[in-house]
Amino acid sequence: MKTVISILVTANWLYSTSLAADLSYIGNKTQVSIAGPSPRLSLDDGTTFVGDSISVNAGFQAQEVSDPVNSLAEQRKYEGGSNLNLDTFTEPYTIDFRYHNFDRMTKFLRQATARYPSLTALYSIGKSVQGRDLWVLVVSASPYEHMLGKPDVKYIGNIHGNEAVSRELLLQLIHYLVTNYATDSFVKWLLDNTRIHIMPSMNPDGFEVSKEGSCDGTQGRYNARGFDLNRNFPDYFKQNNRRAQPETEAVKEWVSKIQFVLSGSLHGGALVASYPFDNTPNSLQSYSAPSLTPDDDVFKHLALTYSTNHVKMSRGVSCKTSQTAFRRGITNGAEWYPLTGGMQDFNYVWYGCMEVTLEVSCCKYPPAHELPKYWEDNKAVSIAPTKQFWSFMDLCVYFIS
Ligand SMILES: [Zn+2]
Repeated sequence: MKTVISILVTANWLYSTSLAADLSYIGNKTQVSIAGPSPRLSLDDGTTFVGDSISVNAGFQAQEVSDPVNSLAEQRKYEGGSNLNLDTFTEPYTIDFRYHNFDRMTKFLRQATARYPSLTALYSIGKSVQGRDLWVLVVSASPYEHMLGKPDVKYIGNIHGNEAVSRELLLQLIHYLVTNYATDSFVKWLLDNTRIHIMPSMNPDGFEVSKEGSCDGTQGRYNARGFDLNRNFPDYFKQNNRRAQPETEAVKEWVSKIQFVLSGSLHGGALVASYPFDNTPNSLQSYSAPSLTPDDDVFKHLALTYSTNHVKMSRGVSCKTSQTAFRRGITNGAEWYPLTGGMQDFNYVWYGCMEVTLEVSCCKYPPAHELPKYWEDNKAVSIAPTKQFWSFMDLCVYFIS
């Protein structure tokens, strides 16, 4: 049986109307052209791609498969109905600027679902090592179904359990979106035209052992088995021999089922928007050499969109004198420091999903009373008077427009 060694999917699909198996060799790559408005290929390692054209290394087998996105609704088990505790209906829906441990986060997500059933859908993509659900809340005017022309985008927080600001920002984002849909024309337009999947915590076990007030350090960074989840994905450039963890496996399964076009992974400990590649093809390459994708111009735009809408990021001021200062608040991942098994490279290479890594706070786990400040930093300079889109939203807008 043939084995797929590696696959590079370019984001800018080449359009072709020719039939499947129309192969032409370009160097050691094979260009495959397939027909149809949204054709799909299933590779013999079980990977599925959607698009008009893909580039793969020689030595693969492919066949057309059914539409996995449209069958998602039947496959996915959503929370709701009898799963909701009575308290979620009777207590007022609100969110405080305080940290939400797993139970409080779960309660908040269920309250949002109970209060805004037509704008939200809650599901779990799996469980952590210690059995905590990896919750995802969809926020959209059509939360339960993928609709043609409405992109699916995602935000993932707290992959490093002690980088707690990311988790709270995403909970605040949920609250902001659902409470402003009826009154803010821009939010309405956004949710009418997008499905935003928000996973506030990819590492809930790590968060539970992290310490509020701890700006640095690694306590809680890893999952319950001591693995760094952002080093745990398959890697395009190098073999990743680390044992796959349940949190990573769940995300891999998730992104294989939904055709995400855009993603933000939120971290803490720096102020910068980093973009692929995180790894580099040449291990002998100098430490700070950039490792650029064919879509570097788009990635730079996405990173700049975030950094320039952030109150401070684009100033490029380093968090500490010992830390790197980033010009305009962006960096290529490998140029900052190369790493193997990162999530953003995986999203891009395996599924053509353009993910950027957003380092949103110098302090990883600041005192809760500082959270309003971080929320303001990550919103656009002024939401109300100008209706300017803010950082998260602008990323979506780029792909819709
Ligand atoms: Zn991190």
